[in-house]
Amino acid sequence: MAGIYIHIPFCKRKCHYCNFYSLANQKNKKEFHKALLKEIFLQKEYLHNEKIESIYFGGGTPSLLSTIEIEEILNTIQKNFTINSDAEIDIEANPDDISKQVLKDYKNLGINRLSIGTQSFDDGILQSLNRIHTAKQSIDAVHLAQVEGFDNISIDLIYGIPGLSNDLWKKSIDIALSLNINHISAYHLTVEPNTALDVLIRKKKYPKPVDEEGIVHSQLLMHQLKKHGFEHYEISNYALPCKYSLHNTNYWRQKTYLGLGPSAHSFNLKSRQWNVASTVKYIEALENNRLAFEIENINATDQYNEFVMLGLRTQWGVDEKELSVKFGVEKLAFFKNNIQKYIQQSKVKYQNGIYRLTNNGKSFADGIASDLFYF
Ligand code: SF4
Repeated sequence: MAGIYIHIPFCKRKCHYCNFYSLANQKNKKEFHKALLKEIFLQKEYLHNEKIESIYFGGGTPSLLSTIEIEEILNTIQKNFTINSDAEIDIEANPDDISKQVLKDYKNLGINRLSIGTQSFDDGILQSLNRIHTAKQSIDAVHLAQVEGFDNISIDLIYGIPGLSNDLWKKSIDIALSLNINHISAYHLTVEPNTALDVLIRKKKYPKPVDEEGIVHSQLLMHQLKKHGFEHYEISNYALPCKYSLHNTNYWRQKTYLGLGPSAHSFNLKSRQWNVASTVKYIEALENNRLAFEIENINATDQYNEFVMLGLRTQWGVDEKELSVKFGVEKLAFFKNNIQKYIQQSKVKYQNGIYRLTNNGKSFADGIASDLFYF
């Protein structure tokens, strides 16, 4: 089973923190769409006839596509791949793009999961991040989606934002919980180089996020969501039992996927490739029946490192038997030896052959994983 990711590189405007490849205009949208349909056809062999169990429209802002454009993309995928009858078909939608008609169209197209980019339920915080919508629009969008029959809804939240007090953050969590959704993705605000946020901070026009505040927010989130039955199944993702994002879970389980559109990544167990992060170059290549991507082969050590990093990020943890079967006793010994100190520091728990991060360890996930990398 495999997944397909489609990157839609257009936004109405750029959020200050964003470093995804996206343009703050919709120039070349028609040409991009035509190129995308061609890429689907040219890449039809990439997954070697594996059945597709998830299709994910991400970006950018996929909700800027018209219904006809989405329909043509799905029809072209259908013609060139074998799609599971109960495949998860997910679209990221910004609250300001959601209307009754749009939701009806999504339903008719077979879209069965919505990822709504709410980010915060405080208008001041939304404005400080240059988000285009209000908190009310987010709440209305979720309610409208529920009325239109969507029962698989995820929202995004960001914490660790300067000005987001613990009280304000708790209020956002309470609003999220009152929405009766089954999935929440929550990210610590990171200052990526050369984003507007980075520039504003360097010019001292915006305060620098304080790591310790983010840690408190993340602990508060873990506590509140656990109380309401959510599983913290991946470092940035919470779901009610079994309501995991199938598409993203497959990334973390190292399953194969095909990424389409500028900057999209693909993975087929042996190599990883990524499309050119330029809409103009992407269109130009496909107009000439070419694919514009770079590729790197994945060796056994890379696979081990990814296995450890992805395993530690999820509630399924790192299974020592699986590690040994996949990578051999030498890497298992290396792993066991190096993870001991984190067990002693109560950042990792070992139980029945599985290593998992504790709540305390989750705040240090990246550092712990990279310390366990094999070179
Ligand atoms: S809407 Fe999403 S992709 Fe677009 S600029 Fe904002 S964060 Fe980035």
